[in-house]
Parts: sequence; C-alpha cells; structure tokens
Amino acid sequence: MINFNEPIMVEKAFDYVREAINNKKLSGDGEFTKRCNFWLEKWSGAPKVLLTTSCTHATEMAAILADIKPGDEVIMPAYTFVSTADAFVLRGAKAKFVDIRPDTMNMDEKLIEEAITEKTKAIVPVHYAGVACEMDTIMEIAKKHNLRVIEDAAQGVMSTYKGRALGSIGDYGCYSFHETKNYSMGEGGALVIRDKDNCEMAEIVREKGTNRSKFFRGQIDKYTWVEAGSSYLPSELNAAYLWAQLEIADNIFNNRMESWNLYWEGLRGLSESGKIQLPFIPNECNHNAHMFYIKAKDLDERTKLISYLKSKGINSVFHYIPLHTAPAGKRYGEFVGEDVYTTKESERLLRLPLYYGMKKIDVERVIDAIMEFYTK
Ligand SMILES: *Cc1c(COP(=O)(O)O)cnc(C)c1O
Repeated sequence: MINFNEPIMVEKAFDYVREAINNKKLSGDGEFTKRCNFWLEKWSGAPKVLLTTSCTHATEMAAILADIKPGDEVIMPAYTFVSTADAFVLRGAKAKFVDIRPDTMNMDEKLIEEAITEKTKAIVPVHYAGVACEMDTIMEIAKKHNLRVIEDAAQGVMSTYKGRALGSIGDYGCYSFHETKNYSMGEGGALVIRDKDNCEMAEIVREKGTNRSKFFRGQIDKYTWVEAGSSYLPSELNAAYLWAQLEIADNIFNNRMESWNLYWEGLRGLSESGKIQLPFIPNECNHNAHMFYIKAKDLDERTKLISYLKSKGINSVFHYIPLHTAPAGKRYGEFVGEDVYTTKESERLLRLPLYYGMKKIDVERVIDAIMEFYTK
C-alpha cells in the first residue's frame, strides 16, 4: 500500500523532545520555540515570526491585528481550505470569493479589483501547492485601495516569489506545520509579521492579551492585561519536534523535490500527448515540492482513475470542495463574478502520494499505474 502522506519524523526529534522535558519547560516560548522563530525569521527575512498552535490560529491572529470587524469584506479564492475563510468570518466579516487561474489554481489577480467595495478590508492570497500568487499585482492593488494583505502561506514554507519568501510579502503571512505539510509539529503554524510596528501587538494577542513577552525580556517589571487576546502559543514539545526538521530543512526540501521531479519526468509524455495536465510553475516562482497533482479530463475520468490507483494499492486524494458551494460558504460568503474555473478545475485535480522519505520505487509504481490507466 502506498499512502498518500506519511507524517515526517526525523531521528533527532527524540533527543530534542527529551531535552525539552528535561529542561522542565513544557509550556511555550522556551528554547525550542525561540530557535524555530529565529530560524523562520532568518529564512523569511521578516522582523518577527511567531510559532502558533496552527495556521488557522495564525490567520485568526492576523484578522485580529488587521482589525477585521463585523460587516467588513475580505477577498479570497473559493478554491482553498476552510481555515482561510474561518479566521475572518469568526470576526463577523464576509468572504468575497473570486475565481482562480486554471494554470496555477491560485486566485486570479485580474479579478480582484472587481470584487472591491467600500467595505473591503483585506485580500487573502492562498499560495496553492507552495506556488506563489502574482504578488506584485496583488500588492499594487492593495496599496491603491488601502487594503491589508494576509498571505495564506500554509503550504509555502521554503517557497519564494522573485526571490522573496512566501508569507513575508503581505502585511502578515501564515504558515502551517500540520502533519500534512512539508515541515510538521503535528499541529502547529506560525505568523509572519512584516512591519516592525505590529510586532508588539502580535506578541500581546498571542499571549492572552498580556504584555508577558515584554516582561520576560525584562523590558517591564510586571505584566498585565492590555488587550483582548487568546492563547496561540504552542508547547515546547511540539516546537522541539519541529526544530529537528528545520535544522535539516534543505535535506527535506531536496528529498521532496527528487520525488516531484521524478513525477514530472515520468508523466511528461502523457501531458504532451494531451491526456493529462501537469502543474505549471511561473518563472517568478520557486516552489517547495509541497504537492504533485495531475488534472484528468473531468470528474468522471478522475473518479475512475482514483479507483484504478486504489486497486493497485495507491492512495490518491482530491480537494477542495469550493467554499461557495458549502453550507457555511453560502451563509458567510459570496462568489463575485462567474465561477468559470473554480468548480471545473477542482473536479479534475488529483493529488499523488508525496512525502519526505518516499522511495523512488514507489514513485515509479505510481507513475506506471497512471501510464497503464491512460494506455489500456
Ligand atoms: C493546511 C492549510 C491550512 C490550515 O493549516 P492548520 O495548521 O491545520 O490550521 C490553511 N490553509 C491552507 C491553504 C492549508 O493548506
């Protein structure tokens, strides 16, 4: 059986989790949390990155920091995970969904301006499969209309756009370290803060609305409740598990990229003969091999392909059910313009098994099975 995903585990994690336990510091913001924050700051070039309990929570923090209020509108793609919308509708905002580009499956930057009204507060680009949205255009639109940009870079750790780290381009960026992502702490994430002026408030919101972080740095002699906040701080145990991976982040990146490239080479023929479509990576983007997907002709062909792969012991999966067609999406959101690609392309897309340490022979088995399906 070839699983779709296998949780990443690197041997050093045992030592680091033991060390965290021996340090008698299991709550957040200990040595391992700091190391992860620092590593992410260095990699992203942002002045502050804070480990959080999930990417969903990082996005909630960004919504609080961007002062999203009831009645505000937030522009995002309908082709995304529910968290992208949840974080904003929880604050009473309305999700305005725009169509995607069929080539990258990212929000179509050319449709954003049509969706802007006097209630619009923010744009939330989602970097699907770790391939960047057209960020220069998006940032220009945001500047012109005075909107905040919050990047859902859940899948984008170690990906860049014109050499800049995903998550560091907008006002805020959100990473995920969920079990299904390239780097994982089981459940976890991080918030990237681009502007120095917003760093202190981010620390406060993350620490239940207190100025405790400042207290621990010795900048004040007692801490107190200064804002409405929540508890977005992960445990040291989770941070220790993640740290073992960040230390060898390049190895993990290269290992995933090898599998990604094998898929690409192996399936190129089928793509050239027009049977399937492969991912498109714009020139400005360096991706992180988060995902390898193919597109079948339509829903019917994809359903048959999934069954065929299953019969060969291969698990492949699809996602997302476009948010505007979901019960909560209808209640909390609205599609702007016409759904030309979101539904159609989401019904064609199939994700193939890809994880750290996947054996070459297993990637080849998946490729062979797909070739058989299309040539039998
Ligand atoms: C995984 C994912 C999330 C949620 O991440 P969590 O860490 O599980 O909260 C949000 N958005 C996208 C695009 C994702 O892929």
